[in-house]
Formats: sequence, C-alpha cells, structure tokens
Amino acid sequence: MKNKEHTRQVRDTVVKKFKAGFGYKKISQALNIPKSTVQAIILKWKEYQTTANLPRPGRPSKLSAHTRRRLIRDVAKRPMITLDELQRSTAEVGDSVHRTTISRILHKSGLYGRVARRKPFLKNIHKKCCLKFATSHLGDTPNMWKKVLWSDETKIELFGNNAKCYVWRKSNTAHHPEHPTPTVKHGGGSIMVWACFSSAGTGKMNKIDGKMDGAKYRTILEENLMESPAKTVELIEIIHPSDCLSRKWLTTVEALLPTMQPLLVQTQVIEDDQAKRGGQVYTTNLRGQVPPLVTTDYTVQDQGNASPRFMRCTTYSFPCTADLAKQCQVPLATIIKPFATVPKNETPMYVVNHGETGPIRCNRCKAYMCPYMQFTDGGRRYQCGFCNCVNEVPAFYFQHLDHMGKRVDFYERPELSLGSYEFAATLDYCKNNKPASPPAYIFMIDVSYANIKSGLVRLVCDELKTLLDNLPREDGAESSMVKVGFVTYNKILHFYNVKSALAQPQMMVVSDTAEMFVPLLDGFLVNFQESRAVINNLLDQIPDMFADTNESETVFAPVIQAGVEALKAAECSGKLFIFHSSIPTAEAPGKLKNRDDKKLINTEKEKTLFQPQKAVYEQLSKDCVSQGCSVDLFLFPSQYVDIATMGDVATHTGGSVFKYSNFQVERDGQHFLSDLRKDVEKAIGFDAIMRVRTSTGFRATDFFGAIHMNNTTDVEMAAVDCDKAVTVEFKHDDTLSEETGALMQCALLYTTISGQRRLRIHNLSLNCSAQLSELYKSCETDALINFFAKSAYRAMLNQPLKTVKEILVNQAAHMLACYRKNCASPSAASQLILPDAMKVFPVYLNSLLKTGPLVGSAELSTDDRAHQRLSTTAMGVEDTQLLLYPRLIPLHNMDVASDVVPTPVRCSEERLTDAGMFLLENGCSLFLWLGQACPPEMIQSIFNVPSLAHVSIDLVRTVTSLTPSSTEDGLMIVKQKDRSEIMFRQHLVEDKGLHGGASYMDFLCYVHREIRQVLT
Ligand SMILES: [Zn+2]
Repeated sequence: MKNKEHTRQVRDTVVKKFKAGFGYKKISQALNIPKSTVQAIILKWKEYQTTANLPRPGRPSKLSAHTRRRLIRDVAKRPMITLDELQRSTAEVGDSVHRTTISRILHKSGLYGRVARRKPFLKNIHKKCCLKFATSHLGDTPNMWKKVLWSDETKIELFGNNAKCYVWRKSNTAHHPEHPTPTVKHGGGSIMVWACFSSAGTGKMNKIDGKMDGAKYRTILEENLMESPAKTVELIEIIHPSDCLSRKWLTTVEALLPTMQPLLVQTQVIEDDQAKRGGQVYTTNLRGQVPPLVTTDYTVQDQGNASPRFMRCTTYSFPCTADLAKQCQVPLATIIKPFATVPKNETPMYVVNHGETGPIRCNRCKAYMCPYMQFTDGGRRYQCGFCNCVNEVPAFYFQHLDHMGKRVDFYERPELSLGSYEFAATLDYCKNNKPASPPAYIFMIDVSYANIKSGLVRLVCDELKTLLDNLPREDGAESSMVKVGFVTYNKILHFYNVKSALAQPQMMVVSDTAEMFVPLLDGFLVNFQESRAVINNLLDQIPDMFADTNESETVFAPVIQAGVEALKAAECSGKLFIFHSSIPTAEAPGKLKNRDDKKLINTEKEKTLFQPQKAVYEQLSKDCVSQGCSVDLFLFPSQYVDIATMGDVATHTGGSVFKYSNFQVERDGQHFLSDLRKDVEKAIGFDAIMRVRTSTGFRATDFFGAIHMNNTTDVEMAAVDCDKAVTVEFKHDDTLSEETGALMQCALLYTTISGQRRLRIHNLSLNCSAQLSELYKSCETDALINFFAKSAYRAMLNQPLKTVKEILVNQAAHMLACYRKNCASPSAASQLILPDAMKVFPVYLNSLLKTGPLVGSAELSTDDRAHQRLSTTAMGVEDTQLLLYPRLIPLHNMDVASDVVPTPVRCSEERLTDAGMFLLENGCSLFLWLGQACPPEMIQSIFNVPSLAHVSIDLVRTVTSLTPSSTEDGLMIVKQKDRSEIMFRQHLVEDKGLHGGASYMDFLCYVHREIRQVLT
C-alpha cells in the first residue's frame, strides 16, 4: 500500500538537512521518515533541483538526463542560440529529436523564447547618468511632465537584418545585460529619422542626412520647436535619451535652447550668488567692482565707495565713447537710495564738520571733499577728481602727506577714506539764510460718510494716541522734535487748536475752499508730549462729532493746500498724512470727474487715463516742493477715484500712495495700521535737493523718482525716506579714460528730523573700457530692470502701450545682439547666447511687460494700474527685483525645528503641488497658497496655530523672517482651485499672463527671433 505523500515543507526540510551535511539515516531519524523516502526525495532533488511534484511521467523522455542538462547549460551560456542550433548540437551527440521536444524541455526549466528587447548600445557611464536622471525627477509633478518634450532618433534599416531577435530567458530578466539585443544608430544602409512627442501629441518626423551631430540637432530642434513654440506645448525641457547621457550633447542643447534656460534660471542665479558671496564682507575699495545681487545677504565695509545699498549701477564699466554706448544700447544708470536702511553691523553715517566756512568744495565744479581728490604739493593743494581743477587747501585743513602721497590724517577723516558720510551744513545752505526748524506732521482725516461708516475714522484716531509717541527722533534723543497738527474735512475743513494750555481742543471751520488759508497759527502745530492731554481729548471726540454725518462729498486739493499753508506759516517743512475715501466732487479747486473709460484701452488714447487731470495739481506739487511739504496719501476707495490725478502730488513730493479698496476694519484694519506705523516711524529727510556730479566726459541727463525738477540738474524732493530711490541716467559728453575711470558724487542737502541742515554725500567710482565685453561682464540685471521699468512707465504717459513695449523689447534685443556680435565666441546663429550677467534679464523683462500698467486689459482696474505705475516710480532695486520676480517659498519644505526659510522656487504653476503650502511675496502682495491635499497638521506644525483663521501677516513674517516692505498688502490666503486663486496666479511670472503676455518660454523664443533679426 502506498503511503500518503509528504508535504512540500517536509521535503524541503529533508533537502535542507541534506545540504547541511546530514546523512540519510540521521535525517530519517530526525523527521521520522523511512530512510528510503529520504533517499528518493534527495535523488529527485539532485536530478531536477526541485522538491516540487513533477508532471507524472508519460512516455519516457527521448533524451537522457545528461543531454537535458546540457541543453539548459547551452542556453544559459548563449541566450540567443536558436532552436535549430540546439537541435543540431543534440543530433551531434546522437540524440536526434524534434525542435518541440527541445523547447518543451527548456520550458520545464522556466526558459522561454522571448523577443529580445532592443536597447541602445550603452556604456556604464551612460547607465549611471540615466539612473541619476530618473531618480532626480521622481518627485516631479504631472504638470511638469506635461511640459516635457521627448525626442529621439531611430534607425530604419534598408538592408541587413532588422528582424526580431529571440532570446532564451526566464521571466523578469528582459534587461539582464546579456538579454537585450544591442542597437547602434549610425551605420550604412539605413535612414535615420528624428521625431518627438509630448503630452500634447506627436511632432513632425525629420529625416537625418548623414551622421547626426550637434549642428544637425540644433537645426532640427529649431525647425520643429523654435519657429513654432505655440504649436508644441509650453516647453520647459527637452529630453533626449542621450541628453542625460552625454555632457557634450547636453551643453549644445543648453546653449541652443531657450527651453533649457529656465532650468538654470532665476532662482538658480540667486542661489548661486548667495552661495558664492552670501555671508561675506563686501569691501568697497576697488573701482568698478560689481556688488553681490540685491537678494544676497552680505555685509558692506565702506572703503572709499558708497555701499551698493545707496548706489547701484546698471553696469560697473562704462564704455569709453558715446559710439560704443550707442552701439550696445545698454542704459548707463545709477539707482540712488540716499537714505537706505543700513544693517546694525555696518558703520553708521559719520557727520563731518568743517566749521564756519562750511564743507570744503572744489572751486570750479563745487564737488565736495572726497576720496577722489588728489593731494599734491606737500599737501598744500589738491586736484579735483571731477573737473581736474587744482585748489588750495585751506589753512585749517592742511595736513602733511606720507611717502605714498596720502594725507597723514587719511583714516581719521571720513571724507577722505569713505564712500558715504555727511557734512554739517552752515547757514549758507539754509532757506533765506535762517536756521531750519524741525519738521511737522499734519494728520488730515476725511470725515465724510464713507469713512465714518467703515469705522476708519475711529480706527485712525485710536491709533494716533499711541503712535504719536513713536515719531522719529535723532539717535540718542529723548523725544521727537517733530510737531503735530490735526485737520478733519469733507466739503469744508476743520482746524484744531490743541495748545497745551487749553482744557478742551478748539475747532475752527474754513468753508471757503477756493482761497485756502489757515485760521490759526498758535496752537495748530504743537509738541505731542506737551499737548498730549488736549490731543487725546480731541482724538476721542472726533469720531463722535461726525458720527451722524450725511456728507458724502469731499474736497481734496484744498486739503493739501491747507497743509502747505500751515507749514509755510510755521516756517518749517513736513509731511501730510491724508486719509481719504472718494473722488473729490465737491465744488472746489481740483474737483474731479469720473473719466474712467475702458473703451480707451489698447487705443492711442489709453495714455490719457494715466495723465493727471488738472493743472491745479501740478501747481500744488510745486508749492509743496518749495515748502518741503511731502504728501502721503492713504486711500480707501469703494470705486474709481482717479489715482492718476490724486496720487500725482504724492509722487512729486517724495510721498507714497497707499490703497485699501472696499476697506473693512476687520479685514484690512491691521494691515492699514501696520502701513501707517511704518510710515510715521520711518527714517526721513526733508526739504531735500540732490545734485549728481560726474567726472569729465559724461553727465547725468535724466532722473526718475518721486521728485520735482525746476531745471535740468537739481533734483528737488520735499522729503526723501529710507525706501525712496532716484534712478539717474548718464550720457557721454566726451571720451572717457580707462585710466581715470568714471566718478560720480551724489550730494543731498536736507533737513534732519530735528531740524538740522546736512549734506549727505555718496561717492562711487566705475571703470571705463573700450572693450564692450568689459561692460557686459560688469552689468547688473536687477539695476537694469529698475531702469527699464521706470523709463517704460514714464513713456506710457506719452506713447501707446504697444509702442512702449516694442521699444523695450527692441532695446533689449539690441543689447543682447550686440553682445552676441562683439563679445561671444562664434557659434551657430540659431544659438541664443546671453551675457553671463544678463542670463535672467529676459525673465524680468517679460514680467515687466506683463505688469498691470503695461498689460492693457479691460479686466484690470484703471486705478490699480495707475497705482502700480506711481508706486514703481520711486522704487529701489530691491523693490523692483521682488516685484518683477516674486519669492515663491515652499513652506511645506520648512524644517520647523530650525528657522531656515526654504529656498524659493521658480515662479511657475508647475512648481505647485497638491499637498504643498506656498508663500508668495512681491513687496506689494503676500499670499499663502494651499494645495487641495495640504494636510491641516501642516498649518499647526508651521504656524503653531489650530487653523488658517489664526494665521496673520505678522505671524507669517515671524515664521519666515520676510522683509517687511512699506507697501506690502495684507496676507491673502488662497486655496487651490478657489476663485481667489486668480489673484495669486497672476504673480506666477514665468507662466502665460492671465491678462495677456507670453510665458517665459515663448518670450525667450520671441527675443531670440528679434536678436537674429538685428544680427542679419
Ligand atoms: Zn572740481
């Protein structure tokens, strides 16, 4: 009788023990199995290498066990051996069988004949590259892959064996090195074709003549992609199998393809500069030295040239001649921010006092004593670096020279060793030769129905009670010397007497707004500390006094006029803080009517929307500037208010325009108050006049900023604060010398916050070169784009937008084409070659073209466009950089334990991920974007608050250490796919503009075409 068969497990154990060296007997005893069974199992295993049940024998095999093992061995040795070959070799040893017998035997061992995979002939290095490429892109979003174009060549053989090839192998071993059939692309008797595909479909097929090389590849790409970028998807990356293999190919592709550029681009340039120059000390001892990028974190040590925080140039090497300048079309400009905030670890401004005679100046050109004055004649004379005039050194200033010709007191005198310093000014520098007085701040509150109803009036009054304790003061001073005054208004104006001696404030009404006068002098402008009780009393009363008002009409120009008159009467400079709600329609000078007309958009007349309406405001600007009266306008409109006109005075007097549309205290209150606080507390100088002097051969010809100019050289600013910059353009008069370079000195005469007259001097020396390559090498993209933005925004007042944009692109194309022609090493015309220092210039330029003012879309509010135009006018390089390339920070990558903010990513939709949380800031707006799949725990872990409702702008700042910008809007939280997402998306500057405007990719192709046109 046959015993029950042992389980597989038991049989495996038997084999295991046998392998471990146990004899049959021992195994039999241990497992309690008859010795003969043990033997049978082991014999079977020895023969078939398995303990599995084999098919029950049918007819005995025609082949011996020996021959069968030989077959398997042969196949393992040479997987591509054919059945015929096997049959022949079996017959040779005397076993003549049918092919199917052989294949059946091989099948039993799991070996099947499969079609060999075709595989490029790869070396190990290629394989490594491929793997690296694949792993580095594992995390890419589907969106990203959508934008990838896959391309490859393939060989179609005309002769020879192009048939399938079979291989003997077990399953899942298709890619074992010996299994695929090698392919090579080049070789006679075949044609090569190139094709591509992407998520949008397949591209055109191209025949390749002869051997494929870089040039052919470029031509093909060009014909297929460059000329019709719109037809293909918005490409950002072209993937060619060998691209990830061969460095040589990759470089050709990179150089050629604008499509590859974004990968290296903007965020990378910023990261590279931060890595290279971040955390370092930048000493300003060298002429023509290019500073780190504005985004890089560096420390400045002034050693004879102004810090780049004060002065930043479009290029640090000027061309020697006007012809060269004209040829390259690179604007020669300096952006000057005279009151830029300096970090605490950098040297503060020294004040130099040259006594009663005032600061020492060159007799001829009036340049102030500075490091560029050359002392001669044993120290008795000095030669002016600007006009070369030789001057006598005044006796009190005489000092011996050392063996190097340097004054012995060189290091003790800031004006000899530093780029920036101040001089105490004498009475000669004061208006009417009378000492200046401390400035005054006048708060002028529109108390018409809209502002009362929204709660704004109460909010402002409450805030002022504490804010006035923080008025700006001199370093070390106990209290501020700034005086304060108060006006409320709707159709008529109310002035308040808040003299400290009064128990109650007194109101005086002026209803004749045509001839504005100030009804009281004594008691209107007072010291807050002294009049605190009366002022607080007034601020308590104002909201109640007008609580029941029905007045909805307002005046505006008379309000500014009243402020100027008050300052005039007090013989001081100052600033007006105006809190206004509506377009001024009441009968009075400067009355405005609604002239918003969307039909004008994209017509010749569109420019009129941005031109200020009335001569009244122009005259008002002049009055303000001559009195040193700056105007800051806080607007709370619920509809069109004509910002182009209302903001005009502010932007000619060194002021700012803040705008809070449809203001709600709960939603916008904190944001407004934070702007107000910063505005009241910030460092500022008044009644300023700036002059930029240059060495011979060039001069300042044009000025952009919140400024006023009565002549061609004096830049007048009623006030200038730490955020305001003036962009100055230079032109050649003559040939510049490489030896002496180009020197500039910016002298700003102003009144300090405590009423002292000072001169702030910033000096900068640049190189000059007859080689354009030097100019391009020394370019600064951030400064360039600041200049382009300001000049375009000015040009749009006189020209149609279309023309303005054409001029911009044209000039850019000329700049880049000139580099290509004169400085780049020869290469195919199809290659887009950009100077290293301008690599990211196109992304900024494209972003500028898509900004509200230049975009010309009826969907945008005219006021918003006008507002952005005016705000940009006075921006420094840091501000325009951030505005035109916002920071997109992947917050979900934040390591909560450390306070390192994640590195910003490219401003493009494809960087967004469903499970991500991103912060976007551009200095004007701040967004928190949440992906649909963003887990709520993330909010808890990053912000340490239970829900989004608890996330405030201040919290975001604390967490991310964002730079608080003066004009930054409140925090907006947007969720993926919500309607509000549009607001956020328009800041993704690399994508196609929501209101028109090309994607970065398309724009590069466009610029590239323009460049080629210039070159031919
Ligand atoms: Zn001079």
